This record gives sequence, structure tokens and C-alpha cells, in this order.
Amino acid sequence: MKLSARHTFIRTVLGDILPDRAGVCYAHEHLIIDASFTTHQSPDFQIDDVRRCTLELTDCKQLGVSTMIDSMPMACGRNVSKLAEASRQSGVNIVCPTGLHLQKYYPPGHWCSRVDVDYLAELFIREIRQGIDLNDGNGPEWEASPHRAGLIKIASSLDQLTHHEELVFRAAAIAHRKTGAPILTHCEQGTAAMQQIDLLAKLGANLDHVVLSHTDRVRDIEYHKQILSTGVRVEYDSHFRWPADQVNPTIELLVHLLPLFPNQIMVGMDAARKSYWKHYGGSPGMTYIVDTLVPTLKSRGVSEALTSNMLVTTPASAYSFAYFEGAHP
Ligand SMILES: [Zn+2]
Repeated sequence: MKLSARHTFIRTVLGDILPDRAGVCYAHEHLIIDASFTTHQSPDFQIDDVRRCTLELTDCKQLGVSTMIDSMPMACGRNVSKLAEASRQSGVNIVCPTGLHLQKYYPPGHWCSRVDVDYLAELFIREIRQGIDLNDGNGPEWEASPHRAGLIKIASSLDQLTHHEELVFRAAAIAHRKTGAPILTHCEQGTAAMQQIDLLAKLGANLDHVVLSHTDRVRDIEYHKQILSTGVRVEYDSHFRWPADQVNPTIELLVHLLPLFPNQIMVGMDAARKSYWKHYGGSPGMTYIVDTLVPTLKSRGVSEALTSNMLVTTPASAYSFAYFEGAHP
């Protein structure tokens, strides 16, 4: 398939959809995390039950949510077959990434610390074009599932990119330019956003299709204006994490920045813990954005149009495949 500027799509685990069919979208989620190096250290991260996932998604679907962007990249607990099953059963579209997470989520000596840029880019491209590895990049064989990756997830450490992270960013930029797949980044504690943007811009990424996560951990509004002035998109997910008896910095950012940058800001839950999910007995549950955050924004004077941009039109455009001359999705 050749991609044109007008003919683009969002790649879900069950197939490509037109961006305007994505509807209300949660922009950075963890819907399945299988047993892995990280869950052995922190069992609360293990959210591996398709039935509970389906129930949580169904609650959201009943409140109007249509699409979720999963953000677990390869070899650290991703399971695309389970995501596909939860999507089928709940009717919620799910987009699953290729890419690599912070090195702390992989055991020491893992192959991902030994590969070069071109090899890594080829792996990302393979998962986008042919299908996500059924063995989640854990070997020994590589076997394409029927479910293709719809974005590239990458990450940087506190305040800076390590040498290895820069290599992963380079591989992601190659895969992005060859396929058009959007890029989602993790900013540790919200930091290093400008370094990420400078590097990706230098590597020829289309910043309309680059989403930075967690920057709302940083309270300085000038930092946010600097980030958003580059044209990049952002995803905020600390709204439910701040102490309830204090001013909520994420809500303040949304109230002040949505009118200034109406097409660049999205929200997600990033609820990578059992203790955040209703169907594991936790709280506030994945419905928080629609049942609590949206009414709070309304009470603070955020218009319905801006809320709809944040939930519908911005994700539809950010998470659609970018057009590059000669790219092949
Ligand atoms: Zn995350």
C-alpha cells in the first residue's frame, strides 16, 4: 500500500482504521503486562488477565471510550495476542507499539543492549509491516503474529538521554521515516523533553506524529510552552496521582495550555499497576478520565470543543501514520 497525505490511517491490533473512526482515545495505557523481569521485582505491575482487562475496557466503552494506545514495547511484558483478545471482546480499538523501554526494565545482558542502530530499526520495521513477534522479542525464534505494531515507543532517563537511549531514538527515527509509524516517548519524571525533540527533529521526524509522555510531572509552565512551541504533541497522565487535598498541577496545565495549544495535548492513565484498576480491586479505575477528569475540566471552564480536541481530534491526528515520500507502512 502507498500512503498519501490524504490517505492515512491508525494501525490497531485488529487492523487499520480511518483516523476519524478512533473516537474518544486514551493516549498512553498499559492494558496487559505479562510476567517479566520488571514484574518479578514489582508484582503490582503484573496486569496479565484478559478477562479483567476486558471488564475494565467495557466500563470505559460504556462511557464512550473507543480507542486505547497501549505503550508496552517489546520484551518487557507485552502480549499482543492478549491485547487482540481484549479488543475483540470489549469492542475497544487497541494500538500496540514496537520499540524499547528504559534499560532498567530488561535483565542485565539482555540482547537489546548489544544490537546496533540498523538491526534495531529493522526489528521495529518488521513489527510494523509484518506483525508483532509472538514471542515478544524473547527468542529464540521470531514469529510474526497477525497483529501489527501501530507506533514506536521509546524512552529516556532522568534529565538526559544515555548513549544507548540515543541509539534507540536513532533506530526509531529510521523506522518512523520508512513506515510513517508515529513515535511515543517516555520522559522520566517529565524531563529531557527538549533533548528528545531536538534529536528527533534533527533525525527528520515529523513532529506532528511525535508524542511526549509524562511531561506534566514538571510544574514549570514555561517548560511546557517551550515544548509545545515546537509543534510536538504531549500526553498528560498524572492527574489522578497528585494528592487530592492540594492544587492539581496537571489540571492547572490543562486549563491554561489547552486554549493556547488546542491541537497538541492529550491525556491517558498510564495505569501500569493492579492497584489502579477497579477489576483488580483497586482505584480510581480506568474510567477516571471520562467520569472524573472531564467533569472537573468542565467545572474549570474548559470548553467542550477543547475537551473534544484533547480526547478525539488530537489523538486521531497524532497517532495516524505520517506521510513521507517513499515510505511503506
Ligand atoms: Zn507508560
